[in-house]
Amino acid sequence: HRRIVLAKRPQGAPTTETFSLQSAALPGLGEGQVLLRTLYLSLDPYMRGRISEAKSYAQSVGLGELMVGATVSRVLASTHPEFKLGELVLGNTGWQDHAISDGSGLSQLDPQMPRPSWALGVLGMPGFTAYTGLLEIGQAKAGETVVVAAATGAVGALVGQIAKIKGCRVVGIAGGAEKCRYAVEELGFDACIDHREAGLAAKLADACPQGIDVYFENVGGAVFQAVLPLLNVGARVPVCGLIAQYNAQELPSGPDQSPLLMRALLTKRIRMQGFIIFDHYDDRYGEFLKQMSQWLADGRIKVLEDVVVGLENAPQAFIGLLEGRNFGKLVVQMAA
Ligand code: NDP
Repeated sequence: HRRIVLAKRPQGAPTTETFSLQSAALPGLGEGQVLLRTLYLSLDPYMRGRISEAKSYAQSVGLGELMVGATVSRVLASTHPEFKLGELVLGNTGWQDHAISDGSGLSQLDPQMPRPSWALGVLGMPGFTAYTGLLEIGQAKAGETVVVAAATGAVGALVGQIAKIKGCRVVGIAGGAEKCRYAVEELGFDACIDHREAGLAAKLADACPQGIDVYFENVGGAVFQAVLPLLNVGARVPVCGLIAQYNAQELPSGPDQSPLLMRALLTKRIRMQGFIIFDHYDDRYGEFLKQMSQWLADGRIKVLEDVVVGLENAPQAFIGLLEGRNFGKLVVQMAA
């Protein structure tokens, strides 16, 4: 049995030294427990927050502790009344091959789900984040212009596709020509701009002739700077993530831009609202699952996964996620 623990807190970007792969013995199965084999581990940007000591909305991973993460696993043995041998379950069992659980936080996967890994992406937390952020927090309406960055990623690809279903004009921002091509040709975005190339602000203005009504904020930094002047009166900005600054160790130098932001919020009556998806499960998760499953069945949503094979490759893949090396929802496949 192998597991990956936090070895060292990163200063800036994590490196392979941040993590350590260990062998461990599995204890025997007690009463009311299940033995799980991890099939898929989800890698997500929030993990950068968990390996930092800075205070946030969730507790940090301690040094030497197992890395946290959502997983899809198969039940290998069970003395628990609710979980049967062979079933697939969604859980939070972390970066390891096997886990022993008392059933808390585990839920059975719908056996009809076309691919079990979708429980970590389109039909799981990132999908629910896109749906809630765009429709509930962002209040996107037909005819409006929606902009989203990390446009081919787990959340962004779904934000754009849902916005298209709702009749919006959708402009993506992504890293590299191939991601931009994919967003337009495969995901159906109206335009997509490469943020690694020069002239982002001017290209974004050209792609948004009617301004921006909803900016789904995934990245912050330079992309937000380009978006701010284009926001319309009454625009909504669901603040979902700020990945461009997760590895930062200090504030950027230069003049304080917050007065500009405050003036834009005031004069344009912009509503900017942060949200953490865990707060929303009680109200709308059921509705989301039903709706997204229907869109998938109707072929209205395309799913792009970036599947990395082997637990030992999780650290490199996670480091790459924070640099834009993933193309689609990043998952680690550990068994079939
Ligand atoms: P993605 O699959 O989109 O992967 C991350 C992407 O971020 C990269 O592929 C890259 O895309 C982009 N990126 C990385 N670094 C930078 C940078 N410096 N500048 C601009 N873009 C960068 O991840 P997710 O879809 O899982 O997450 C997207 C965002 O949503 C994150 O900020 C995450 O923290 C947030 N989130 C928030 C939740 C909440 O509850 N509030 C829940 C889930 C996610 P590219 O190459 O195209 O630039």
